[in-house]
Amino acid sequence: NGFVKLGLAPELIAAVEDLGFTQPTTVQEQVIPRAMTASGGADGATRFVDLMVSSQTGSGKTAAFLLPVLHTLLQRQAEAEAASKAEFQRLAAEAAARGEAPPKKPKRKDPTNSRHFKAATPGALILCPTRELAQQVAHDAIDLVKHCRGLRIANVVGGMPYQLQIAKLQNADLVVATPGRLLDLQRSMQIKLDQVKFLVVDEADRMLDLGFSDDLAEVNQLTIERQQTMMFSATFAPRIQQLAQRVMREPQRVTI
Ligand code: AMP
Repeated sequence: NGFVKLGLAPELIAAVEDLGFTQPTTVQEQVIPRAMTASGGADGATRFVDLMVSSQTGSGKTAAFLLPVLHTLLQRQAEAEAASKAEFQRLAAEAAARGEAPPKKPKRKDPTNSRHFKAATPGALILCPTRELAQQVAHDAIDLVKHCRGLRIANVVGGMPYQLQIAKLQNADLVVATPGRLLDLQRSMQIKLDQVKFLVVDEADRMLDLGFSDDLAEVNQLTIERQQTMMFSATFAPRIQQLAQRVMREPQRVTI
């Protein structure tokens, strides 16, 4: 399978194979390896390359941004699990040295129990201009995480019952959203965006056409700690370049 050489996790390659994709498309070949390249920032914090990609619907652009984001989320999840396992073993060894029973593993909280309610804190956010596109992208993401244990996707769009979205939002790692509903949930403190490491703006030109410029500026401020931003747009018109300058750091351009 042609996706193997892009360096993706085996769980993601398996999903791509299930979908019947044998070769990456041009935009996937160009974007995926670049997007997964980590670079130490000037402040020593981990960064990934910011990308500004010209792409049309039908080019395979959705998988071009979903796959590297999911790959990096999987890596972070594996690192966090290894760290918590090591910590548990350390505490167990200390307890054994004192002749005590090993500590209990913390129980998973029940998200449907309101006493356990916490605002959602996703690690990745994909913004889409329309509800239909956001639903399509979330659907593609769900297909791609089929073999990933414990990566959760949530869809946040207008016109859907709030309660259902809020329930699904709990524990979500990746949120696919339209800007209006996302900011509603942020203001009502159902979601916090300060843990977002990866931000993707899909169809940036339509985003501006639909008047989401201020919303994008707000999300930009709310996710200021992020490690990567990718913007996809049909054109690189001047207003798109201005937006790119505002939300990205030294973006690399990929023209398909
Ligand atoms: P998009 O440009 O993301 O809207 O994708 C267009 C269509 O191409 C979608 O139906 C995808 O499922 C499909 N697709 C994406 N990548 C590949 C690939 N590498 N091989 C075959 N089909 C693909």
